[in-house]
Amino acid sequence: CGIVGILGRGAVAPLVVDALKRLEYRGYDSAGVATLENGHLERRRAEGKLRNLELKLSHAPLTGAIGIGHTRWATHGRPNETNAHPHATDKLAVVHNGIIENFRALRDDLQAKGVVFDTETDTEVVAQLVTDELRQGRSPTEAVAATLPKLRGAFALVFLFEGEEDQLIGARHGAPLAIGYGEGEMYFGSDALALAPFTDEISYLEDGDWAVLSRSGATIRDAQGHPVERARQTIPAGS
Ligand code: GLU
Repeated sequence: CGIVGILGRGAVAPLVVDALKRLEYRGYDSAGVATLENGHLERRRAEGKLRNLELKLSHAPLTGAIGIGHTRWATHGRPNETNAHPHATDKLAVVHNGIIENFRALRDDLQAKGVVFDTETDTEVVAQLVTDELRQGRSPTEAVAATLPKLRGAFALVFLFEGEEDQLIGARHGAPLAIGYGEGEMYFGSDALALAPFTDEISYLEDGDWAVLSRSGATIRDAQGHPVERARQTIPAGS
């Protein structure tokens, strides 16, 4: 339902939660955040209100300077902590808005290869597909590029990779995703509103686009893999 990704300078988890609060009006049933702690993926997730996630974070803080977060409006799988995003493997974490229409066929193929699924969501198939590509030696960018053409439905995705302290990858296919430009900081948001506290420089991905962010900028490609430019807009302060 709501997606946030931040490549920051200090601990980003509190910023991710603040951004998710700005998307609360859209409704949600659970929430979560993942960061890299000394290069390793860590998650906190909670059923119900963002307050529950904040309580978990206060007992077990995350301090990483790169992170992703999500508020979930369940479409596939009960609204519990296990099914809350980010979904993760030992190689990556991912947040997802929308629906992967062909997830059952993709899941069946992966299960036939021996992949074990932890959740009831359509989203987990994306995490497992990209992980499968990484295990074959592909880079994160190559693994995402190989996976996106397999997915059907309307979705936005943001990926965070184990050991990759300066990279977030996001994709837009029928559900909105914006990039926010900061000073040595970069952002993804499903809604420019979520990013308003951090930056007023936004570009919107177009359908089929996917983008690789580092703290020094964004590389955007279209569905065919060709580099593209998407105009930056200045969002008026206070919006
Ligand atoms: N289809 C996904 C799920 O049920 C994402 C739902 C959403 O957009 O929040 O977990």
